[in-house]
Amino acid sequence: MTPRCGPRVRIAVVTTDLPLIIDKPLNDYSMIDFCIKCKKCAEICPGDAIMLGDMEEIDGIKRWQINQEACFTIWCIFGTDCGRCMSVCPFSHPDNLLHNVVRGGIRNSSLFRKLALKLDDAIYGRKPEPAKLPKWMKLVWKKKI
Ligand code: SF4
Ligand code: SF4
Repeated sequence: MTPRCGPRVRIAVVTTDLPLIIDKPLNDYSMIDFCIKCKKCAEICPGDAIMLGDMEEIDGIKRWQINQEACFTIWCIFGTDCGRCMSVCPFSHPDNLLHNVVRGGIRNSSLFRKLALKLDDAIYGRKPEPAKLPKWMKLVWKKKI
């Protein structure tokens, strides 16, 4: 999870001998507090691959661990990737003025976090239906069968 892109990140390694400036860890509890209240990703996951309960200490760090095998099983069943956890996450909303104002409120107020979650549920739904396949994709699938 990242403050700007939410869960829409892929972690990668870049090897370089360039001198780098080391930044400091973010001292910001607001995202963890929001996740504790939210759990939309865990509720919608078709493979129950995301922990619903409290964080657990794994390798010395408290975290919600994703069960990669359960997640990949769903990808194999669907025949493509899933990503429902990312699409429902309130931090995945577009980078525009309205959502950035909400993000600011989430960062600064516990009360606002509760309100923002209620608003998100009301506007986008707690468990929205998956997006419908575009027509062209259905045609490609039919041809394959
Ligand atoms: S990608 Fe799909 S199956 Fe995997 S963790 Fe996210 S919601 Fe669950
Ligand atoms: S949907 Fe996003 S904000 Fe909600 S618990 Fe999951 S990662 Fe956290």
